[in-house]
Order: sequence, then structure tokens, then C-alpha cells
Amino acid sequence: MTAASSLSSSAPVRHARVVIVGAGPAGLTLANILRAASVDCVVLETESREFIEQRPRAGFLEEWAVRALERHGLADRLLENAEVHGECEFRFAGQRRRFRYGEVSGHHHFAYPQQLLVTDLLRTYADHRSGDVRFGVRGVELHAIDTDRPAVSYTDPDTGERVRIDCEIIAGCDGGRGVTRDYLPPEHATLARHDYGIGWLALLAEAPPSSDCVFFGLHPRGFAGHMARGPRVTRYYLECPPGDDPENWPYERVWAELRARLAADGARPLNEGRLIEKRVLDMHSYIVEPMAYGRLYLAGDAAHLASPIAAKGMNLAIHDALLLADALVAYSGKGDDSGLRGYSAACLRRVWQYQEFSQWFSELLHGPSSGDPFQAGAAAARLRRILGSPTAAAAFVELYLGVNADH
Ligand SMILES: Cc1cc2nc3c(=O)[nH]c(=O)nc-3n(C[C@H](O)[C@H](O)[C@H](O)COP(=O)(O)OP(=O)(O)OC[C@H]3O[C@@H](n4cnc5c(N)ncnc54)[C@H](O)[C@@H]3O)c2cc1C
Repeated sequence: MTAASSLSSSAPVRHARVVIVGAGPAGLTLANILRAASVDCVVLETESREFIEQRPRAGFLEEWAVRALERHGLADRLLENAEVHGECEFRFAGQRRRFRYGEVSGHHHFAYPQQLLVTDLLRTYADHRSGDVRFGVRGVELHAIDTDRPAVSYTDPDTGERVRIDCEIIAGCDGGRGVTRDYLPPEHATLARHDYGIGWLALLAEAPPSSDCVFFGLHPRGFAGHMARGPRVTRYYLECPPGDDPENWPYERVWAELRARLAADGARPLNEGRLIEKRVLDMHSYIVEPMAYGRLYLAGDAAHLASPIAAKGMNLAIHDALLLADALVAYSGKGDDSGLRGYSAACLRRVWQYQEFSQWFSELLHGPSSGDPFQAGAAAARLRRILGSPTAAAAFVELYLGVNADH
């Protein structure tokens, strides 16, 4: 897609150095850092503020991401309220084995629901730093991205008018279902896709976590997962056929299946509660390469989707935003465009490491339910290695926590 035509010459015009499309973790991290560095930017978001501050999704941040947010003054509430996790539990064949990755690496996960992070980032950007963010915009279009005077237009939700913002750089942070990715010319970009052929029923239960750590339940009936989302809410996953209808999973069936797949000697019963979210995610991943064209730079899910198998998506979105922010600050201040030129390659190193890890981890989690004795045996060997060999454990933890993952 190239410059669109729906822009009349009488449209109100504004200027900003950077237009950021999308107010998720990527867009808001970027906006905050630019704002703090006095780089003029505008954020455009299709949803309302109330909606994005309540949209539940991810919940596990890797320590490097938290420390980076902290360095930018963006982690006060997170550090005050997040639970710190340094252990997970593998449940298989009626046994449970704790894996103390904090001890192996000295690093941790921070359990903090994505909507709280979005709320914090918005509060800092819009309320404390008076940043410009427009909610409820419609019909976002990009123009002249292959020139040095690109623009973004949208329909103002209050007036119904088309508005144009002339800019120097466009940051496409509009997630997996956004529009900015479509502006990369197909002859310029490669789309790499992987379909796992597996579905996960993603559940949020109004119930306290049943333990202080994540459970990975490896079971012939299918994978099951337990992840804290604060003191009163727990995310559970149940492997299911891709495309399954969530209505096939009434309350009783969900809890019976979770109890069966997470059963282990000496395990406490699960805390049950009302299911406040129930949807089927078809496990797939994609990566657009390169993540930039002309004056358009993609960040986060707009450029690459990591299935939630290894809980990497939000972390990658923050990683991209940090790199893009550094590059834009250098470009805006000293005219140094080396960061922008190297941006895509720098992001993609970690993206590919995480995608490869997710695929590897998927084989481990889904081996027992694959129906294939070879895959099940290989998954069991993989698990014994992580639990039995310090070297294998250290290698696993490097990628599980994203330590030293920019190769
Ligand atoms: C059930 C589930 C569980 C997950 N668990 C984890 C986890 O534990 N750990 C982890 O790291 N990741 C996890 N993820 C992935 C994580 O949620 C995403 O990777 C993350 O939201 C990506 O952030 P983003 O800023 O790139 O995109 P998004 O968060 O999708 O933000 C994009 C924003 O752009 C807006 N937008 C869309 N189109 C337009 C448009 N045309 N114009 C303007 N705005 C637009 C959207 O409304 C949205 O606010 C999970 C995802 C799901 C669905």
C-alpha cells in the first residue's frame, strides 16, 4: 500500500517530529522516552483510554525490561506492586518438580498485568508529562513514507474531520491487527510465519493464584498452564484444537480439565473461581523483515508476533521501543541516523532468539499430548536434561529470562 487518497487539501494539518500509531506497551514506552527527551511526538490510538487500561493480556516481564523501564523513570508502580518470581514448576506424570531459575541466573520475572503497565505508561506520558495522545481515531492512513516528508492522517472521532499530521518519522506500534505493517512494499519485506497447529484456551479466573509460581503441566490430554496475574486473578491455559469454540468449554469442563492436567503428588487443590475471560488462541508466529521502510519503523506485534507459549511478546515490544527511542533521540539531537539504520537488525537478533526458543519450548510442552511416541519421548528427555544438568539449566534460563539474548 502507498500514499492513500482520502486526504483533502483542506484537512487540518499539524506537525510533529514523530507520529506513533498505537498506544500499547511499544507505543507508550517509545512516547514516554521521546517526551522526556523533548522530541515532539503524537500518539494515535483507535480504542478509548478506558478500554486499553482494562484490556487483559500479558503478565510476565523479564528483569532486563523492568530495569530498562526503571532507568527511564517508568517503573515506580511496577516495582512497588509486581510479584517477583524466580521459580516455576513442571508437572508431569503425576510428579512436580520446582525449577529455581532465580538461583541459576540471579535474574527474575516480574508478574505485572499488561493493563496496569499500560495504565502507568499512559499516566506518566499524558498526565504527568502532558504528552499528546488521541483516542478513538478512525481510518489511520500513512502517506509518502518513502520521502523525507511523510504524514499520517485519521478521522477525528468528535468532529468527523480528516486530520493530517506532517512528520519526519512514523512509528508503527499498532499491534498484530494494525494497519502500518501493510505499508511495507511486499517486494521490500519478507514475512516469515510459523503455525504451531495447536490452540490454547486462554482463561482468566477470578481466583487467587494456587501457588507462588508458574506451573507448566505436561499431560497426554494436553498442556495446561497456571500463571499469576495479581493477588485476585489467575491466568490459566488449556491446550485445545486450533479454532475450537470457547463455548465448548463450560465452567465444569474447564476446572475438571485443569485439575486433571495439573494433578501432582502433594499438590494443593487449585483455587477455583468465575471465568472472566475465555478465548481460543491459535498458536502462530510471524516476523516481518526488515522492520522498516523509508520513514516508517515498526515496533512490537506490528512487526513480529510471538505466540504466548514462552510469554515473550510484551518483552519484545518493550525491547523494540527502547531501541527505537534511543535511535530517534540520537537522530533528533545530533542528526545521527546510525541507530535508525541499524534498528531493524538490532531488534531482529532478539526476536529470532525468542522465536526459536518458543518453538523449542512448544515441543517440550506439547510433546506428551502430540499422540506421537517419538515426540513424547524427546520432550521427556528434554525436560530431564533441564532438570538434571546445570549446563542445560543455565542455557534454558538464558532464553527463558532473555539474559544475553542479542546474538
Ligand atoms: C492471552 C495473551 C497472553 C499473553 N501473555 C504474554 C506474556 O505473559 N508475556 C508477554 O511478554 N507477552 C504476552 N502476550 C503478548 C503481548 O500481549 C503482546 O505481545 C503485546 O501486547 C504487544 O505490544 P504492542 O505494543 O506491540 O501491541 P498492542 O499491545 O497490541 O498495542 C497496539 C495498540 O494499537 C492500537 N491499534 C490497532 N490498530 C490501530 C490503528 N489502525 N490505529 C491506531 N491504533 C491502533 C490497539 O488498540 C493497541 O492499543 C500475550 C498475548 C495474549 C493475547
